[in-house]
Amino acid sequence: MGPRFGLRMMATSSYDLVVIGSGPAGEKGAAQAAYFGKRVLLVEREAVLGGAAVNTGTVPSKTLRETALYVSGLRQRGLYGLDYSFTAGLTVEQLMHRERLVVESEHAIIGRNLERHRIEVVRGVASLVNAHTVRVRDAGGREHDYRTDVILIATGSSPYHPPGVTFDHERIYDSDSILRMRAIPKTMAVVGGGVIGSEYASMFTALGVQVTLVDSGDCLLPFVDREIAGRLQSQLTRLGLRFVFRERVAKVARNAERVNLVLGSGEQIACEIALFAAGRQSNIEGLGLEAVGVRIGQRGLILVNEHYQTSVPSVYAAGDVVGFPALAGTSMEQARVAMVHAFDLRYKEQVSAIQPLAIYTVPEISMVGRSEEACRQAGLPYLVGRAYYDKSPRGQIIGDLSGMLKLVFSPADKKLLGVHHIGELASELVHIGAHAMAGGETIDAFIRAVYNYPTLADSYKYAAYDGLDEWRTWRHKQGLD
Ligand SMILES: Cc1cc2nc3c(=O)[nH]c(=O)nc-3n(C[C@H](O)[C@H](O)[C@H](O)COP(=O)(O)OP(=O)(O)OC[C@H]3O[C@@H](n4cnc5c(N)ncnc54)[C@H](O)[C@@H]3O)c2cc1C
Repeated sequence: MGPRFGLRMMATSSYDLVVIGSGPAGEKGAAQAAYFGKRVLLVEREAVLGGAAVNTGTVPSKTLRETALYVSGLRQRGLYGLDYSFTAGLTVEQLMHRERLVVESEHAIIGRNLERHRIEVVRGVASLVNAHTVRVRDAGGREHDYRTDVILIATGSSPYHPPGVTFDHERIYDSDSILRMRAIPKTMAVVGGGVIGSEYASMFTALGVQVTLVDSGDCLLPFVDREIAGRLQSQLTRLGLRFVFRERVAKVARNAERVNLVLGSGEQIACEIALFAAGRQSNIEGLGLEAVGVRIGQRGLILVNEHYQTSVPSVYAAGDVVGFPALAGTSMEQARVAMVHAFDLRYKEQVSAIQPLAIYTVPEISMVGRSEEACRQAGLPYLVGRAYYDKSPRGQIIGDLSGMLKLVFSPADKKLLGVHHIGELASELVHIGAHAMAGGETIDAFIRAVYNYPTLADSYKYAAYDGLDEWRTWRHKQGLD
C-alpha cells in the first residue's frame, strides 16, 4: 500500500485550517490554503488517503473499465477479424491487478502533494466541538482537540443501502464492496440505472458476464440527452446487457450459490451476484454538526452558500457532503473556492458554471451544457449539428463506428449551448466544447479552427458544418435570407 500516515504526525494544536477528509475536496482544499502559507491539519479516518475517488470509486472503477476493454478485446473487435478476448479463465486477481497498482500510485501522489505543501496529517475520526475546535479520536480511543480558525468538512458520501436488503458482500454488493468480489460471476443483476449502475453493468457485460439491469424509471440515465442515451442503450443491448425498466425489487433472497430478486411484477431474476447501486448518502454521522449550529438539508446534505460556507461562518463544506453534482473534479473546485473565500485570497471566487460530466460506460459518454430536452423545457430555441465517427477517418482507423458528437446551439447568434458526445475519448474531447462555451463562442469557432488529421477532435468542425446547414435552413424558413 502507498504511504499512509507516516507523513507528519507531530500535530501542534492550533491551526489556520483543519480539514476533515482526504478525498478530492479535502486534499485540494488543504493544498489551496497551504499554498498560500496557511497552517493546515488534515484528518482522515481510513487507513489510506484519497477517499472514495481513489479507494472505492472513480479511480478503481475507471481502471477496471480499462482492464475490461483490454481483456475483452472490445476496442480491437472487428478490426482485424481476430478474437482478442482473454476473458476465458480470467481470475479476480488478474482483473484487479492494474487497479491495485494504480490505486497505490495515487496514494503516493497524494502523500507527496500533502508533504510538499507541509500539511500535517492525523489519522482518526473527527467531530466538531465548537465552531473553532475539532476533536479527533484515534484507533486506541484517545482524543485530541485542535483549535483552528477555519474548518473544512470534506467527509464525502457512502453507498445508500435500501431497507430490507442485507449486504453480505459475498452475493449482494454495494458500489464499495463490488471491488472486493471473490470470483468473476457468470450472471449478475445490477439494481439502479444511474451513473454507477450503468458503468458497472456495461463493464461486466464487456467482460462477458450476463448482466440484467433493473431500474424503476422508464429509461437509462434520464438526465442525459435522449438521443445519446438511446444510442448507449442500443449499443449495450447489442453487447448483451438486458434492461428491465419500470420495475422495483420487491424481495431479495439468497443462498450459498445464488441470489434471487423478485420484482414487483412477480418476475424473478436468478443470478450469482447482485450489485445495488441505489444512490449515495452524505457522511455526516457523528460529526456533531447540529450541536454547533451547522444547518443540514434534505437527505443529510450540508447546506452551504455560493462560497461553500455553512450557517456557521468559520465552517465550510465541499464535495459529496454538499450533494449535486457529487463528482471528483467539481468537489476539488468547490473546496478551492471555499478556501479562497475563507482566507480572503481573492483568486478563484466561484466554481465555473460550465461543468462537464462523463459517464464511463462502454462506450463512454460525456456532456456539458444544455441538452435538447433542457432547451425545450426552458423554452430556449435551439438547433443541432451532428458528426459521426463512421464518417471520420480516425473513427474508421480505430474501429469505433458508432460514436457521435452533437452540438446544441442558439439559432439567433449561433452560440454554443451544449455538447453531447458518445464514443471513444468522449470524456476528453468534451473539454474542447466546454472551453468554447466558457468563452461564449459560436459554432463558427470550430469552423475557423485547424485540427490535426486524422483525429476525432475534428468531429467538432464537421458537427459545426452540419449545424451551419441547419442554421441556413432555419434562416430561410424565418424569411431572414
Ligand atoms: C463507483 C464510483 C465511481 C465514480 N466515478 C466517478 C467518475 O468517473 N468521475 C467523477 O468525477 N466522480 C466519480 N465518482 C464520484 C467521486 O468519487 C466523488 O464525487 C468524490 O470522491 C467526492 O470527493 P469528496 O472529497 O467529497 O469525498 P470522498 O472522496 O468520499 O472522501 C471523503 C473522505 O472523508 C473521510 N471521512 C469521512 N468522515 C470522516 C470523519 N468523521 N473523520 C475523518 N475522516 C472522515 C472518508 O474516510 C474519506 O476518505 C464515483 C464514485 C463512485 C462511488
